[in-house]
Amino acid sequence: MQYKQCLACGRSFTLRPQSPQQTYCSAPSCQRERKRQWQHDRLKSDPDYQDNQARAQQAWSQRNPDYWREYRASHPKYVERNRALQQERNAKAMVAPIAKMDASTPVIPLPSGIYHLRLVTEDGIAKMDVWTVEITVHSSECKPDVDIAKR
Ligand SMILES: [Zn+2]
Repeated sequence: MQYKQCLACGRSFTLRPQSPQQTYCSAPSCQRERKRQWQHDRLKSDPDYQDNQARAQQAWSQRNPDYWREYRASHPKYVERNRALQQERNAKAMVAPIAKMDASTPVIPLPSGIYHLRLVTEDGIAKMDVWTVEITVHSSECKPDVDIAKR
């Protein structure tokens, strides 16, 4: 007999010969977890399934317009937790632009010197003309000064 470890609860279970690919034990909570995981993976990988689920949820909401209002009224802790999570997200969103500006500072270390430039067209073909240019970096804060002379 073969044993396997359940992905949900971690307990080992006997593998049945008719389902050698089984990764969850037969406990109802582990089977729910297996289904939840399957739906999660499917939502990510299957646009049709995603679309279908969205439509089903929308239709259900239209049939049960008061559900969430009543749920919130009878579950104050749920409301409180959601509010705290939203405030956290809002705080992060306000910090994000500052972090972004830092990250986008260009860090291309182009040293001063003589360079050969060759024009490459959109189809990837290099033109015959070669330019010899001297590039002098005056400051890392602004664009380098470029002197061009055709050879
Ligand atoms: Zn299990």
